[in-house]
Amino acid sequence: MTTISTTENDPAYNPPPSAGALSRTEPDRNCPLCPRLAVFREAARAREPEWFNSPVSSFGDPDGRLLIVGLAPGLQGANRTGRPFTGDFAGDLLYATLLEYGFAKGIYRARPDDGLTLVDCQISNAVRCVPPQNKPLPAEINSCRPFLAATIETMPRLRAIVALGRVAHESTLKALGVRSSAAPFTHGAIHPAGNWKLYDSYHCSRYNTNTRVLTPEMFRSVFARVKTDLG
Ligand code: SF4
Repeated sequence: MTTISTTENDPAYNPPPSAGALSRTEPDRNCPLCPRLAVFREAARAREPEWFNSPVSSFGDPDGRLLIVGLAPGLQGANRTGRPFTGDFAGDLLYATLLEYGFAKGIYRARPDDGLTLVDCQISNAVRCVPPQNKPLPAEINSCRPFLAATIETMPRLRAIVALGRVAHESTLKALGVRSSAAPFTHGAIHPAGNWKLYDSYHCSRYNTNTRVLTPEMFRSVFARVKTDLG
């Protein structure tokens, strides 16, 4: 484990976005900050008017000690249903794991009205709008970061952040004002800093699990460690 610092005297420190930029956790339904994603969103609304097709809000308990940061809504997952990781393969593995380790209760039925609740935990995304081919551009990740930073800022009891994949890891570090060279992404890595720790995991996508880059056991081991550390 490497310890990273967020103090201004540390060379790894980059100032996070200004307090003014941190004031809102959720974007407008028609957020215009990423023109490419806004066009993609409008096309999806025209094609699938019954789908959610808007920036997907965080889900869970803002008073929780755990924040999970994903990449972005999946086209037929959260972009369709309106709840993070709900309705596609990634959600099947994530919610099963959260239920197993007590970070969720109820039954996950891949629908936002399934009654599932999160326990001591909130889920968000580095990018709130669905990107083409699940690949947001660097400028889009930057544009959406203030919403992630605000989400982190408004979790007063936060102790653990699980970053699902490299993009979530890098954007979380930038939101926290930490240079990525101080905390390189590796599956299973734990980066302590002050009152919180950043836990890295490969993203629980179908591609990663089909190719065995990430096995369910590897994924569970991350949350087992979080559970142990939170006590
Ligand atoms: S990705 Fe974020 S910043 Fe970009 S348009 Fe969507 S909500 Fe706005």
